[in-house]
Formats: sequence, structure tokens, C-alpha cells
Amino acid sequence: MNLTDLSLLQLSEKLARAECSSTEATQASLARIGAVEPKVKAFLRLTPEEALARARASDERRARGQLLGPLDGVPLALKDIFCTQGIETTCASKILKGYVPPYDATVVARLRQAGAVLLGKLNMDEFAMGSSNENSAFGPVHNPWDLSRTPGGSSGGSAAAVAAREAFGTLGTDTGGSIRQPAALCGVAGIKPTYGRVSRFGVIAYASSLDQVGPLGRTVGDCAAQLQVIAGHDPKDSTCATEPVPDYLATMHRGVKGLTLGLPKEYFIPGTDPEVEAAVRQAASEYQKLGARVVEVSLPHTRYAVATYYLVATAEASANLARYDGVRYGHRAQAKNLAEMYEKTRDEGFGAEVKARIMLGTYCLSAGYYDAYYLKGQKVRTLIRRDFLEAFKSCDAILTPTSPTAAFKLGEKTSDPLQMYLSDIFTISCNLASLPGLSIPCGFTKAGLPIGMQILGKPFDEPTLFAVGHAYEQATDWHTRAPAIG
Ligand code: GLN
Repeated sequence: MNLTDLSLLQLSEKLARAECSSTEATQASLARIGAVEPKVKAFLRLTPEEALARARASDERRARGQLLGPLDGVPLALKDIFCTQGIETTCASKILKGYVPPYDATVVARLRQAGAVLLGKLNMDEFAMGSSNENSAFGPVHNPWDLSRTPGGSSGGSAAAVAAREAFGTLGTDTGGSIRQPAALCGVAGIKPTYGRVSRFGVIAYASSLDQVGPLGRTVGDCAAQLQVIAGHDPKDSTCATEPVPDYLATMHRGVKGLTLGLPKEYFIPGTDPEVEAAVRQAASEYQKLGARVVEVSLPHTRYAVATYYLVATAEASANLARYDGVRYGHRAQAKNLAEMYEKTRDEGFGAEVKARIMLGTYCLSAGYYDAYYLKGQKVRTLIRRDFLEAFKSCDAILTPTSPTAAFKLGEKTSDPLQMYLSDIFTISCNLASLPGLSIPCGFTKAGLPIGMQILGKPFDEPTLFAVGHAYEQATDWHTRAPAIG
């Protein structure tokens, strides 16, 4: 058997029992990357020497009986949005080409302290703006289940690398669905934790009231093991919560007996692929067999979510991206004076979608429009959050499709931004309401493409999401299927 066929937790147990070494696991991952990467293109950058050196250090700790926990010696990879000391970090943008951060993001430092082996940096949509990875300045990622299709976005590299067995787990970020939607399209698990659950120090900002870091993995347990290490207060990020971090791996086995799951009627609508809807309804019946109650709930402001998101996210993006002026980071254009240097740097450095969003955001923040757009957006956002808090009075978690369709073709939606934006219709409200959301595989289309379902929870109730996801995984085998890349 190949080591890359194991889940993160299976590898971790094997390492703890000294049945294999971290060096062997890392070599297996690097060999797998060598074999499939020319087709999948999940990585922007590999760090094999560093990975092998850290694997050797882990093997020495094992020999001394001093393993640091479940991630010690496990090969993982990171979306290129996380600052990594001494390793180029571009956010898939030409404007950051050549930028080498002098420090690690807190989540990266925590993975290193836990002994994880980092294989490299993963492809994504430029500045995390996109739903298909086609906005990367360095070419798209290909979905391992069908190379002519998108892996989703913006954490497309993070999802594809897990699905293609290139890494045992990855980190992504999620502003409007960027962990859950690619997880669904690639047939893996991924969680966007509650806003504030994970530090964003050293994470390149897109929309600061929405961005959150989270893990992707082959199983719910693989996500829980990674979240355990990265979650928790960080004095370097004032938006990071002080809420204590529960033991996710221990509480994951609680089962669903006695729980009530809500199906929001606004999430089962025309426009959703009937195969996707059927798979999620089938999962709801499975939960009833497992002892949960399923009820209908209503989230009446859902239809305003996409519009609200594109006001709030673009406004915040226009403020965050103002720092890329050619003076401080990465690319700098040749010019006669300062103003021209700013202009040319931004013109050459930013891609079309990023430029469009900066302009939209600047417009809706400008004097005279601020109240009509940004402020109004914030008010609707409050209504969307209230819908959820109301719904959670009658259920413990909410079950929905993650994405209205399975993976679409590369190029299929690039000429129609509205169609592209609609692929996040089910994931966006969770960010606007600051809630946690988990996506797990729940079936396949007739064409053989994975389908994902989303489980939404109360603030900081990640334990219930993991328990609900894990119970389903125990009863089904979707998560064990692997793509035949070819
Ligand atoms: N697709 C959405 C966007 O383009 C969400 C992206 C994300 O979550 N980073 O903004």
C-alpha cells in the first residue's frame, strides 16, 4: 500500500507506532506530487529540502519518544495567502511576485511548533477573489476528478492537493465560501471556523470582517486535528477570540442521536442541480436513521446575501489592497514620478477581477454612496445573522448543499461574473453571519463528480459540526473514494 492512500489521522497513528517514518511519508508525498502535479497544478511553489529536513527532525523526536502530537511528521501544504518566513508568498498575484515575508503567519508558526512538515505553497485565485481558481495570475488548478473542470476557488489548490493525495491536509481561507466550495467540488472535507476562531496574523487580507482561516482534509477528523492546532487566541490579532478551544477529536464521536437538523427552505430552489438536491435530501434521511430529527427552517433574507456580500467584500478589499503601491512589497513599475509609479505598478500587477473589485469597492465607499451601499449592506447583514440565530432556536445545526452544482468546466463561467458569483450562493451567508460551516462529500453525480453538503452551526459550535460530519462519514463511504487522475 502507498502511504499517500492514508488519511492524515491514519498516517499519524502509523507514525506514532513507528510503523513508518516521516521521511518515508514525505518522500511518498513528493513522489506523488511529481507524478500528478503536471496535470493538477495545485502548487505554486515546492519546498522539498525544507520538508525533508523537518521530516528528519521529526524522526529524531520519535526515536527519542518526544513526538509533539498528531501532526508531528505529517506532510501538509499551505494556500499561498499565508506569510511564510523566507519563502516567497504571492497570493497568486503578479503584484507580490518576489515578495519574501520576514515572518511566519501565526497559523504557520503553530503548525511548525506542532512538528508538521510543510511541502509548499498552493495555488489560489488572486487575493482569494474567485470561485474557480481561474483568477490566479499563474494559471488555473485542474480538478483531479476531471482535469477539464475547475477545482472551485479561491482555495482550489488546497482542495485539489488533498483530493489528489499530494498532501495529507492543507490550510485555506474562506471569505465567502473559499474553503467549502472547493472542498465540495473536489470531494474532500473543509471547515470555515467561526469568525475570530483562528488568528489571521500574517494572512494576506481580502475582506477583514469576513476572512477566516480553516483546514481541508480527506476526513472530518483530519480537519479537526488541524483546527485543534491552529485555533485559539493570538495576542497579535485583535479580532482573534479568547474563547477556549475544545478537544475537537474527543467530541467528534458524540453521534447525532437527539440532535435536530434544520433544512432551510430557501436553500432548495430552482437553479440547484437536481442531483445535488437529491444527494443532500438523501443525507438528511440518513441522519434520521442515525437518530437525528430533521425539521424545515426558514432564512428569509437569504436572497439578499450575494448582493450584500459583494458590497461588503469589495468595500473592504478596496481598503486592504491600497497598500500594494509598489513602494513596500513585490512588483515596482519603472516610472517618471511617484503618481505614475503607483498607477503603472497597479496596472501591471493586478489582474482584471481584482481591479474590478477595487473599483466597485471604492465606488460604494465614496462620499454620497456610502450610506446607500456600504451602510445598507451592513444593515442587511445584521438581518441575515438574525435569521440564523432565530433558526437555531429550533435546531442544533443546519444542512444545505454547499454549491448549487458539481464542478463546472474551466472557462464555462469566466465571461459571466454573475454566474460565477452565484456559485457561492449557499456559502456566503455563513460568512456574513460570522458562523462556522463544514463541507463534506455526500455523493457523486452520474458523470462521476463529487457533491458536497454544508453543515452550518452556532457561533463557536465547531464540536457539533464535527460530530454531525463524522457520524455521516461513519455511515457512508463517499470520503474514501479517490480520483483516477489521467
Ligand atoms: N468567491 C467569493 C469571492 O470571490 C469568495 C471568495 C473567498 O471566500 N475568498 O469573493
